[in-house]
Amino acid sequence: MALIVHKYGGTSMGSTERIRNVAKRVAKWARAGHQMVVVPSAMSGETNRLLGLAKELAPGRTDDDHNRELDMLAATGEQASSALLAIALQAEGMQAVSYAGWQVQVKTDSAFTKARIESIDDARVRADLEAGKVVVITGFQGVDEAGNITTLGRGGSDTSAVAIAAAMKAHECLIYTDVDGVYTTDPRVEPDARRLSTVSFEEMLEMASLGSKVLQIRSVEFAGKYRVPLRVLSSFTPWDIDIQEEAKSGTLITFEEDENMEQAVVSGIAFNRDEAKISVLGVPDKPGIAYHILGAVADANVEVDVIIQNLSKDGRTDFSFTVHRNDYAKTVDLLKEKVLPTLGASDIVGDTKICKVSIVGIGMRSHVGVASKMFRVLSEEGINIQMISTSEIKTSVVIDEKYMELAVRALHKAFDLDQPAS
Ligand code: ADP
Ligand code: ASP
Ligand code: MG
Repeated sequence: MALIVHKYGGTSMGSTERIRNVAKRVAKWARAGHQMVVVPSAMSGETNRLLGLAKELAPGRTDDDHNRELDMLAATGEQASSALLAIALQAEGMQAVSYAGWQVQVKTDSAFTKARIESIDDARVRADLEAGKVVVITGFQGVDEAGNITTLGRGGSDTSAVAIAAAMKAHECLIYTDVDGVYTTDPRVEPDARRLSTVSFEEMLEMASLGSKVLQIRSVEFAGKYRVPLRVLSSFTPWDIDIQEEAKSGTLITFEEDENMEQAVVSGIAFNRDEAKISVLGVPDKPGIAYHILGAVADANVEVDVIIQNLSKDGRTDFSFTVHRNDYAKTVDLLKEKVLPTLGASDIVGDTKICKVSIVGIGMRSHVGVASKMFRVLSEEGINIQMISTSEIKTSVVIDEKYMELAVRALHKAFDLDQPAS
């Protein structure tokens, strides 16, 4: 008998019929003798619907001004789906109980809309498990020190599930979703993408941070920190498939490199449409400029991603960087107000129609020429690279967003990701 955490995403919880299927699947695992904790997302579309209502009432900078209430609002989606799942489990003849984050408690900091989990008190959950109940805990939400409801950022139910699995020292955390595992790239963009039977923790971390929304990045961080065995698999297989077969399906995130691992130089391609580029033009090329610009941005709590400074000409240069699209308007306003007058720059311009495409693979450590191959492939497609950023196991480029799909597909083919791993 093992303690297992299942997480079901929005599509998997998308209708009463699907919730019934989830209940049947969970009941199968419980009847096989496992202690089951289940973490559902809101039914698909529900979080967007709720946040859309808020936007209707407060157009403009809703995100900055109403964050506490947005969390109060968005958290209801998970509360509803958790209660529905517990009811469905009871209707299957199981003993089940559902809890909101504040009831467990899942304690977070107070960064509304992007809170971080600080601790989880599992006493209540353990008592229920001992009493033979299936425990359903809302994904995506927690409670701060002052008793406010918080949420963990979009896609945050993954993080709830992994954090609960870590706190409870679960045997495994299974992330059930609408694809049957982690693919070489998003199968919605490249139909020839291949499922990986294993992916290393480091690669998964890069893929998630570079935009692969199959797992929220913080869930991968938690899995790494607490060594939570983590698997991504489909909720769309028939619920009554053989449990042994199900337990081995999907993609396992691995922590050790072993000889069975698929050894490709590039393992996956990630892309991100959520960034925007800002350029400060004609800044004097002298010490302290980067600090002057990015210090002001950091003080406004805006995260900066790719940075580039051009060669200077006549003592002046252009300085560009990317931020999340949600922070774009705020950052441009701030630079115009605080930095432009003091810096003596000629202008501040921006572009929201960009995307970042990245190749990821631990094999890049030991192979030269991977980045240059990437650049060659893009040039053959006539795609202009605006910015480049590299680390040990990834190379990212910023390009015009209209070429995103073309770039992903061309790179996928050029790095043989459509071919079975040797
Ligand atoms: P859930 O609601 O279950 O959390 P998400 O929509 O958050 O589901 O994540 C699953 C989706 O992630 C898939 O439908 C797929 O389009 C997308 N995705 C992006 N990159 C990948 C990848 N490398 N492998 C698999 N799925 C990916
Ligand atoms: N319901 C939340 C969202 O749509 C959390 C999640 O699905 O993981 O972002
Ligand atoms: Mg998700």
